[in-house]
Amino acid sequence: METTAELQNGRANAAAEKKDANYVFYELTRSICPECRKVIDAKILLRDNKVYMSKRCPDCGPFEALVYGDAEAYISLSRYNKPGTIPLAFNGELRHGCPHDCGLCPDHQQHACVGIIEVNSACNMACPLCFASARPGFSLTLEEVEQILDDYVRTEGNPEIVQFSGGEPTVHPHIIDFVRAANARRIPFVMINTNGRRIANDDRFLEELNQVRPSFYFQFDGFDKETYRTLRGEPDILEEKIRALDRLASIGLTVTLVPAVERGVNEHEIGHIVDFAIRHPAVRGINFQPAFHAGRHPRHDPMQRMTIPDIVKLIHEQTGGKFVASDFVPVPCCFPTCNAVTYAFVDGDQITPLPRIINVNDYLDYITNRAMPDWGLQIKGALEGLWSSASVAGSQKSSDQVQFSCQACGIPEGLTIGDLAQNMIMIMLQDFMDPWTFNQKNLMKCCKEFLLPGGKQVPFCAYNSVGYREQARVQLEAQEPERRRARVEGRNYQPQPITFDFSGNSKGPVRLLNPDVAQIK
Ligand code: SF4
Ligand code: SF4
Ligand code: SF4
Repeated sequence: METTAELQNGRANAAAEKKDANYVFYELTRSICPECRKVIDAKILLRDNKVYMSKRCPDCGPFEALVYGDAEAYISLSRYNKPGTIPLAFNGELRHGCPHDCGLCPDHQQHACVGIIEVNSACNMACPLCFASARPGFSLTLEEVEQILDDYVRTEGNPEIVQFSGGEPTVHPHIIDFVRAANARRIPFVMINTNGRRIANDDRFLEELNQVRPSFYFQFDGFDKETYRTLRGEPDILEEKIRALDRLASIGLTVTLVPAVERGVNEHEIGHIVDFAIRHPAVRGINFQPAFHAGRHPRHDPMQRMTIPDIVKLIHEQTGGKFVASDFVPVPCCFPTCNAVTYAFVDGDQITPLPRIINVNDYLDYITNRAMPDWGLQIKGALEGLWSSASVAGSQKSSDQVQFSCQACGIPEGLTIGDLAQNMIMIMLQDFMDPWTFNQKNLMKCCKEFLLPGGKQVPFCAYNSVGYREQARVQLEAQEPERRRARVEGRNYQPQPITFDFSGNSKGPVRLLNPDVAQIK
């Protein structure tokens, strides 16, 4: 028999209404706490056609961040998930579990399409937005870089791309020797990531570049003084950047522009950047990157960050529809939500994106895996080459792949296959995962690795978010006095391996390069 109190409670509960959540719970993954970097569970939630990551650190509390600006697209992208390729050798063991065993450890699901070597930590600029937190500290020797390249060849066999980065790699006194060392190992695409300043001002350096002929990842955020004041701390740097591009064009070297896009800062400049890229003779591609909030960065709101669909929408709006969302197809070698890319033929004002004349989506669909004749498989191979992180805008290889694909499709009227390859532009979108959006699922298939002395290869988003950069920096800086001694004494420097230890991570926070980062939510 129920008591009076129980009857009253029952009536109260009946009067209360159950509510539906205002989101769809899509999946569970693992992430890190943006404050203490502990590995924690994370939920991927769909709300208002956007994708969010929601997680709770037992010590630091709850966090939520915008991951992708189009939920419908996000859930449909899995068909572009290509089976990974296993490297020839691993440089890590399975001990603590991902993301603390880099690497690459045998659990990693992709080989390295792109190897990045940070040759120094110093820079000739001091940008407020700098994931490398550039400042003087270390400068690798030629022996170290050669050993790193040899390790890269050992694990990859025939590595496709090496990028020399920093700091600012062009201020390293041996940067030309590094490019020569990569050329000597027959790595086909040797790139320098640069702010362009030395190229704009140093005639002798330009001559040396002409001899070794790398291509460039070129920092270029727009045209407005306010953009450069906010992101680079230098409102008047545009003139130097244009001069550097003109000088590279004068010797036939090519660049991919790399704009960091920050909401409220330069999102209005995207169309202008595309127009400029189409017209400038040195520019073969653009790699738009939502501003990456790791290392040194201004305060930001993780719920309002730019994502790939946001930039695609702005490209559409600001180019008057020259490019539309369906022109961009995910890059299948890494996780399909990490990158998207398109190629377009430029004929005066007429822009013809490749996906409008060949059904790229069908060729790169790995779920249905439809049967294809041999000819179709060859086209699929060419498109896989183009839709890859290892594709370099304007390279002979990508031109050949476009030519091959186009033999099977309708070539725009009035153009020859040779014209197509000559007048092609690549637009890529790359959304690096910061400590707020870090998703272990994506990380395990990452194909862009930092290469370190001793052979460790660490995926980009682990290196910059988990605490690898901090540990590597301490060791690389501690080795600097011995590098100097070897230089002064005229002897070879014996490279020291970089190692990692996260055993203290469960007890407390890792040391962060940017102490402000812990205050930003
Ligand atoms: S990111 Fe890759 S290499 Fe690093 S621990 Fe995870 S699976 Fe291993
Ligand atoms: S973002 Fe690049 S140019 Fe700016 S300080 Fe960092 S390394 Fe230098
Ligand atoms: S670098 Fe980060 S965003 Fe890019 S492929 Fe690797 S995991 Fe994905």
